[in-house]
Amino acid sequence: MTSRLRLSDALTRFVFEAAEVRGAFVALDQATRGILACHPYPPPLSRALAELCAGSALIASTLKLDGSLIVQLAGVGPVRLAVVECSDVLDLRATAQWNEPAIAGLAADATLVDLAGDRKQSRFTITLDPRGGGLLYQGIVALEATTVARLLEHYLTTSEQLQSRVVLQTRDGVAAGLLLQRLPGPSAHDDATWARLEISVDALAPDSLLANASPMDMLSTLFPRDDLRVFDPRPARFHCSCSFNRVRNALRIAGRREVEAAIAERGDVEVTCEFCNRHYTFAPDEARDVFSSSDSSAGDAPAPTRH
Ligand SMILES: [Zn+2]
Repeated sequence: MTSRLRLSDALTRFVFEAAEVRGAFVALDQATRGILACHPYPPPLSRALAELCAGSALIASTLKLDGSLIVQLAGVGPVRLAVVECSDVLDLRATAQWNEPAIAGLAADATLVDLAGDRKQSRFTITLDPRGGGLLYQGIVALEATTVARLLEHYLTTSEQLQSRVVLQTRDGVAAGLLLQRLPGPSAHDDATWARLEISVDALAPDSLLANASPMDMLSTLFPRDDLRVFDPRPARFHCSCSFNRVRNALRIAGRREVEAAIAERGDVEVTCEFCNRHYTFAPDEARDVFSSSDSSAGDAPAPTRH
């Protein structure tokens, strides 16, 4: 059983002892603050990314994941792209591309449809990216003008065939989320428990998950009548998987012509990780060396942008 760890930056799974219901509670503080500090995200986007961080950690907790879960919004309006990645060890990172004037008119609680600009032309996808390559499993989630929590709830209910409830709350870069799932095994008792839990979820105050309590205290406040088996909290953090080797690989994929163009333009090659904003600078010899070297190390590229 778990200790009285601080609430933030951890995911805690639990099961109801007296009903076929499982759940997870996640609270992110330093993790989301670190992610959101990488870029000057406008408030509605910042809020959406924080919710997607908490939501992707909750989804990851339901999977036997060996690799990463990637949640991506591809829009045609104020936001062109918003990506959140959560690894199996709850390493989180995010990035986005947006149009500043277009997003300036949106309310802080704009929906993903508002951010994407058009429901039909935009895509909201959830992808499983196994470690070491292999198949990517992609689910396309119908983009509706509703909350991130509702979208993820719908995704879980259809993809896992389990009735699911998701609550996501954010404030000032801090995010928290609650997931409940009803496991297979129909019984009148479970029907009644699930109905009761749905009522308590619907009745949650807008910032009730953001209280600075330990997971144990939070869960006993949320479910005072239920006997829960609570598993040890797992730490979550902001961690970007970019590295010098991955950037070398990205340069190799970009090609010699791109690299020579950068050298001609600015004297060296600088690659910026679009997730964590870390800069990697290559002198001309170092940049050209990636094409002569025989090593093809380091996995996939971090999709760099060149400046
Ligand atoms: Zn990075």
